[in-house]
Amino acid sequence: MLTRRNFGLATAGLVAAAAGYRSVSSDASEETMATSTDTAFEITKTPEEWRKILTPEQFYVLREHGTERAGSSPLDKNYADGTYECAGCALPLFSSETKFNSGTGWPSFYQPLDGATGTTTDRSFFMTRTEVHCRRCGGHLGHVFKDGPPPTGLRYCMNGVALKFVPKAEKSTG
Ligand SMILES: [Zn+2]
Repeated sequence: MLTRRNFGLATAGLVAAAAGYRSVSSDASEETMATSTDTAFEITKTPEEWRKILTPEQFYVLREHGTERAGSSPLDKNYADGTYECAGCALPLFSSETKFNSGTGWPSFYQPLDGATGTTTDRSFFMTRTEVHCRRCGGHLGHVFKDGPPPTGLRYCMNGVALKFVPKAEKSTG
């Protein structure tokens, strides 16, 4: 069983982690440092287990580092008050207060919630980009670029399919 678990971890795309975690903001550095020494996430499942709870599109993005087609997510044009959670483990990731219209066709935010996300350096497609994932389950969310609006100057370019929007009125905690 240990062998199978190790195999699962090795094939979860964590090879990319060997390239080194990199912080994109001082706020995220502590969290990033914490994950760089231990690549085991709080929530881990086998690909088979993820397939049971995710749609094929969600699995493709979250677990296989896929990218949804630009403009395909209804969340791109959603500006209602609320919270965007991880579609894989329901961890709150972004507040609607930090969402902005980037014009890219992907939901964009200038800042994640404190400690909600982690980053890795992504050197695929002959580019060096900063990959963003859920801190709790490691699910791939998108990338962060340094051409965002104030106050952070960051643009978290997210796949809408990797997010679940929870309207503010429905939150029990208010
Ligand atoms: Zn998650």
